[in-house]
Amino acid sequence: MHLYSRQILLDGWDIEAQEKLKLANVLIVGCGGIGCTTAELLARAGVGKITLIDSDTIEVSNLQRQIAYTEQDVGFYKAEILAKRLQAINPFIEVRAKLEKLVELNSELLISQQDLVLDGCDNFSTRYLVNAVCHQFSVPLISASAIGFQGQLFMVEGESACYECLFPKEDHANESLRCADSGVLATTPNVMASLQAHHALLYLGLGLTPLKEKLLLWDGLSMKQRIVNFQIDENCSTCQVI
Ligand SMILES: [Zn+2]
Repeated sequence: MHLYSRQILLDGWDIEAQEKLKLANVLIVGCGGIGCTTAELLARAGVGKITLIDSDTIEVSNLQRQIAYTEQDVGFYKAEILAKRLQAINPFIEVRAKLEKLVELNSELLISQQDLVLDGCDNFSTRYLVNAVCHQFSVPLISASAIGFQGQLFMVEGESACYECLFPKEDHANESLRCADSGVLATTPNVMASLQAHHALLYLGLGLTPLKEKLLLWDGLSMKQRIVNFQIDENCSTCQVI
């Protein structure tokens, strides 16, 4: 109670909302610039069960923006180091680390039991897979991305339009834009992760879905934020399955 007292004091946030966080199962896909910050904020806020998945190890070039890691962590698995950090920050939650890539074979088992999936991975194929499996098992998804000075955030829930409706697969078939190739300012993924974690708390604690079928675009040069609606695409292969 003492740990979460500033949250429980909040108008519109009570013990019931805090208990909902405690009971929540959340999967964080990717422990990079977005996943590090999202995971830490959720652990501090009191989300009860957090599963991290990432097969990457920490590189020196990650330290510029991935706030959970230090120079001593280089070479170790990101998910393992991040899990230890979360557990040190909040020993009252359960943290699991999966040191593997999210692929079709493990995706159903990992995603189907979650109350919410937070995607912050660095590639399109994982994003499409996470989207498809979340859709299949009706698991809500909040997806954040950051590249250069730009960030995006949206939510997929229930019968809403999905990631593939928003970004048709054909458009991205040959694209492999990643931070690794195109550069990113230290702050951009952390801004988007904070927004993603904030939305996750709104959803888990209060059942709010302000970015359902809405794409938030954040421009890190002008500091402007826009929110645009998107709809089900009748050609979307994910939405047509059901
Ligand atoms: Zn769709």
